[in-house]
Amino acid sequence: MESITFGVLTISDTCWQEPAKDTSGPILRQLITETFANTQVIGNIVPDEKDLIQQELRKWIDREELRVILTTGGTGFAPRDVTPEATRQLLEKECPQLSMYITLESIKQTQYAALSRGICGIAGNTLILNLPGSEKAVKECFQTIRELLPHAVHLIGDDVSLVRKTHAEFQGSAQKGHICPHKTGTGTYSDRNSPFPMLAVQEVLSIIFNTVQKTANLDKILLEMSAPVNIPPFRASIKDGYAMKSTGFSGSKRVLGCIAAGDSPNTLPLAEDECYKINTGAPLPLEADCVVQVEDTKLLQLDKNGQESLVDIMVEPQAGLDVRPVGYDLSTNDRIFPALDPSPVVVKSLLASVGNRLVLSKPKVAIVSTGSELCSPRDQLTPGKIFDSNTTMLTELLVYFGFNCMHTCVLSDSFEKTKESLLELFGVVDFVICSGGVSMGDKDFVKSVLEDLQFTIHCGRVNIKPGKPMTFASRNNKYFFGLPGNPVSAFVTFHLFALPAIRFAAGWDRCKCSLSVVNVKLLNDFSLDSRPEFVRASVISKSGELYASVNGNQISSRLQSIVGADVLINLPARTSDRPLAKAGEIFPASVLRLDFISKYE
Ligand code: AMP
Ligand code: MG
Repeated sequence: MESITFGVLTISDTCWQEPAKDTSGPILRQLITETFANTQVIGNIVPDEKDLIQQELRKWIDREELRVILTTGGTGFAPRDVTPEATRQLLEKECPQLSMYITLESIKQTQYAALSRGICGIAGNTLILNLPGSEKAVKECFQTIRELLPHAVHLIGDDVSLVRKTHAEFQGSAQKGHICPHKTGTGTYSDRNSPFPMLAVQEVLSIIFNTVQKTANLDKILLEMSAPVNIPPFRASIKDGYAMKSTGFSGSKRVLGCIAAGDSPNTLPLAEDECYKINTGAPLPLEADCVVQVEDTKLLQLDKNGQESLVDIMVEPQAGLDVRPVGYDLSTNDRIFPALDPSPVVVKSLLASVGNRLVLSKPKVAIVSTGSELCSPRDQLTPGKIFDSNTTMLTELLVYFGFNCMHTCVLSDSFEKTKESLLELFGVVDFVICSGGVSMGDKDFVKSVLEDLQFTIHCGRVNIKPGKPMTFASRNNKYFFGLPGNPVSAFVTFHLFALPAIRFAAGWDRCKCSLSVVNVKLLNDFSLDSRPEFVRASVISKSGELYASVNGNQISSRLQSIVGADVLINLPARTSDRPLAKAGEIFPASVLRLDFISKYE
């Protein structure tokens, strides 16, 4: 298809409130860029509000270069589902056969497709298609329409020569339906192409989330937990001041004593002209019902021991003033967690506040480095060897993200040794994060060991740079990540694939498992690669706007490129129309660090 722009509009109240929950929009955008080489895709999220949907659609229809709009969501039977109604009013021509075709194909997958009311039509020179909201449905619908789209766009634009060309391509090509430009083969002497298909990043993540089982259903456990105690467990003073009866008036009161935080509640009788000096957090005497802060009092008299004996209360006492009632912050039997939060800081401190010592189980992880060339950084380097940096890097990354590494192990390039060690490790851990040995070399034994151990290899190649040979395999709730050995490839693929899998297993919500994404403006031109690239860059904030500066030579062996790397800029694959990412252009970037801004200008 010639260079055009697609618009992907997610229509959902939930995703509008929490954009991280939008998985269908990103999947559609990814499918479009992978399928149509030289296209741009823009995206947005709107709530299920007819006016807002139409406002966004109108904006896009008015853009000359924007030729296809795919909406996802709001096509069902729920009262707030109004996508078809919003769309219909903007159309000049309806295309009922196209929606019928999508429906017929979808019904082959599930009868529930009959409950989608999406419509298709043309507004100006823009084709609009309403797709359902679920991730699975948008993928299937996209497969259905992807071959028709170029032709439809050419017809709408009256591009006669392109229409002929599309006809010729579809009538004569043996490649019909083939979207993947990357060859697969047998991987043997006669066919040296990898037998593993090259999968897109989002596809690999979907596979991971559909394969990995949560070791603890943390969400459920935490949401169901109720408080065994009240916070505070007694009526507590909010201020340093004087506790008294609110029925007494202002004026002078005798000070009966001092109550400090930690003292047990005082049950002695209290008259209206008496009070206790009290500290913040201390329990109110049984007969007192308010506290007057020290700033609103005046000391009148000390006794012979130097203790306060008379004070002037300068404001009228009010019942409940500066008192936290029992259970004010959290009551017995209330839910401890009003919502899910993956932060161990939040989870552990809230549990501590109710005296709970629940030990949260975490996935057990081992780090393995393979390569006969590897020498421990503690040993003396000998000819032909290199220092092993991956073991340290991957162990530290696990710790940085709050997980523990149970074992580390360095293996030479030997089928038998690798098999033996993996068998032993999987006896004790859930995940093995291995680096090296997954490429096409005759010493790269990892994939054949996995096959020998009857693991299912879900992914043997990913369409990314760096990290193409990234391998993900599983067997009976045991998971294996084979990261490429080049240190930067291992670094990038750990963040993109291994970390989300471990977080998911630990009970994290799926939409929180991947790194957070922000938009950054490029400070340098950058030549695009034939694969989507994840470029290390440092972030500079200029008056609140984020800029990214690429960290020098990006060759995957050069570990130095992670120095000062705040983000991985997500760059698309090169096309004939777009060989360069230009300075000033905005790209999404995956955040590597909590403190991800290196400089403020
Ligand atoms: P491989 O993925 O095993 O083909 O290795 C690719 C490159 O990464 C080779 O140059 C290896 O020497 C290097 N490499 C592999 N493992 C490590 C490691 N643990 N630390 C540093 N470099 C490594
Ligand atoms: Mg190797």
